[in-house]
Order: sequence, then C-alpha cells, then structure tokens
Amino acid sequence: MKRIGFIGLGLMGSGMTMNILKAGFPLTVWNRTPSKMEALVKAGAKAARSPREVAERSDIVIDIVTDSSDVEQVLLGPEGVVHGARPGTIVIDMSTISPIKTREMAAKLGEKGIRMLDAPVSGGDIGARNGTLSIMVGGEKDAFDEAVPVFQAMGKTITHIGGHGDGQVTKAVNQILVGMNMLAVAEALMFASKAGVDLKKVHAAVAGGAAGSWQLTNNGAKLLVGDLEPGFKVKDYVKDLRIIMETAAETKMPLLGTAVVQQMFRELDAEGLRDKGTQAVIIPVEKLANKRLLG
Ligand code: NAP
Repeated sequence: MKRIGFIGLGLMGSGMTMNILKAGFPLTVWNRTPSKMEALVKAGAKAARSPREVAERSDIVIDIVTDSSDVEQVLLGPEGVVHGARPGTIVIDMSTISPIKTREMAAKLGEKGIRMLDAPVSGGDIGARNGTLSIMVGGEKDAFDEAVPVFQAMGKTITHIGGHGDGQVTKAVNQILVGMNMLAVAEALMFASKAGVDLKKVHAAVAGGAAGSWQLTNNGAKLLVGDLEPGFKVKDYVKDLRIIMETAAETKMPLLGTAVVQQMFRELDAEGLRDKGTQAVIIPVEKLANKRLLG
C-alpha cells in the first residue's frame, strides 16, 4: 500500500485524514498548529516536523490549506515538500486555489521529476467527514490512476478532467454555480417576503420543482429560520470569487452574473461578516429591499 503524507488538518483535512486511516493507508501528517495533529496521532498516524519530512516518508503527499500562497509555502518554501520528495513522488493539492498558480507550481515540481495533481473538492466538511466528496482532478493520467485508491478513501465522485489546472477550473465552475444560485435563493425569498406571502409554504412549493437546487433546499431552509451559521464561510467564498475573476481575465471571459455576486459578498466582507455562512448574502438583499426577510 502507498505511504500517504498529509499537510493541513483544518475543517476539511481533519475529516479526510481519518478516512485515509480507516482505509488502511500508512499516514504521516503535519499541521502548522501542532495541536491539531493530536487526534490523528491517537488514531494511528505519525506526526512530522515539517512538510519536507512528510515528503521524505511518503509516496503520495496531499495538502489542503487555504490559498495559492499557502500552497506555495508548504510545497516550495524553505521547509517545503520539494526538498523531501523524490522523483516519481505524487503531490496532490486539494485546496481551492488559482489554476494559473497551479500550473506554475506543477512545472516547478516537474523539473525535479515530482508529479503534481490538482484535486479540489466539493461537499464541505460534512462530505470530508463522511468520505463522500466530489473530487475534480487535473494533471497527468498515469499519476491520477496511481492515486485513485486514496481518492476513493475520501470521495464518491472522482473525475479526471484533463491537464494541470483543469481540476481548479472545474472547481471555479462549481463556485460560479453556487454563488449565483445562492443569490437567486435570497432574492426570490425576499420577493415573496415583500409580497407578504408565507415563506415556508413558498419554499415547500418550489423546492421540489424545476427551480429546485441544493442551495434552495439547504441554505434556503436556513434562511427561513434566520440561521446564518457557516457550512461554507463568506471569507472562503470571497477568495474563490477572486480566483474566478482572475481566471476569467486571462481568457477575456465576461462574467456578468458573477460580478454582481462578487459585489454582494464584498459588502458582507466590508461589514465584517467573514465568518458567517454564504447564505448571509440575504443581508445586502435586505438592504436593497429595505425590509428584513423574516420581519
Ligand atoms: P481551515 O479550516 O481554515 O483550515 C486551513 C488549514 O490550512 C489549516 O490546517 C491551516 O493551518 C492550514 N494553513 C493555512 N495557511 C497555511 C500556511 N501558510 N502554512 C501552513 N499551513 C497553512 O480551512 P478548510 O475549510 O479546511 O479549507 C481548506 C481548503 O479547502 C480551502 O482552500 C477551501 O477553500 C477548500 N474547501 C473548503 C470547503 C469547506 O466547506 N470548508 C469545501 C470545499 C473546499 P493552521 O491549523 O495552523 O491554521
């Protein structure tokens, strides 16, 4: 069985690593804040002192950290994976980051014979814990084929999309859909609220029809009870919107709807609501309508 190394034990990484252990892989972990490694070590993983040491002890190194610069730090920084990996090692970045930066990093690792896959995920912390993530993968097919068993330990829908960065482009597609859906849910519910119609009945009537969506069923239901707690945080979505817009600029792709969504989330960011869930987009909608959704 391949030896797995894992860097980044946040909301996502902590669930994913438990599933890798359950599947029987030997596992070495590293987290910047060392206390987050304790539960994993109790469950049977070995703790490393740096990303470099993770790579020295592993055949496949996975990371899921925050943004492009964080991935650069753990892969290419002074104590990074690149200094411990051998030619043939597979490095899998599962963070949501820039496709452009991904391609640059894949080229740098490639110069040393290290094979990189970008494999961002959808499904949230619940999917990470349950091993039901959707994983969208870019990079060489032979590396993907070798990594399939470890992907299967973490996810249910595993798709090789194409070359380096194509997994990240696919994740950006996912995030365009998520954001416009969420804004549509907020705007439509506010429309009903202004018209004085029973929101719960409206929700029940439309959620199962052609306008139904994951966002309407899950985040729409949260709005009906005034719940703005995060499944997916505003601050992470603000990052994803930046990545989407940078990528669109490269290909001269106008993104009119996403631009509106981005301005709404900028308003939330300016208000200091970065740790709320993305359904908090109801707040700028309420301001425009001059009415509380539930008021
Ligand atoms: P999180 O809970 O904030 O965890 C972030 C992890 O990255 C922590 O382990 C953190 O270490 C580490 N990290 C950040 N910057 C670092 C750096 N410069 N050097 C070393 N370690 C660093 O975030 P998360 O929710 O797990 O998300 C991780 C990634 O998955 C993000 O790209 C996010 O967009 C994506 N994602 C999240 C979700 C979701 O629903 N949460 C869903 C799909 C995709 P410390 O513990 O030391 O802070």
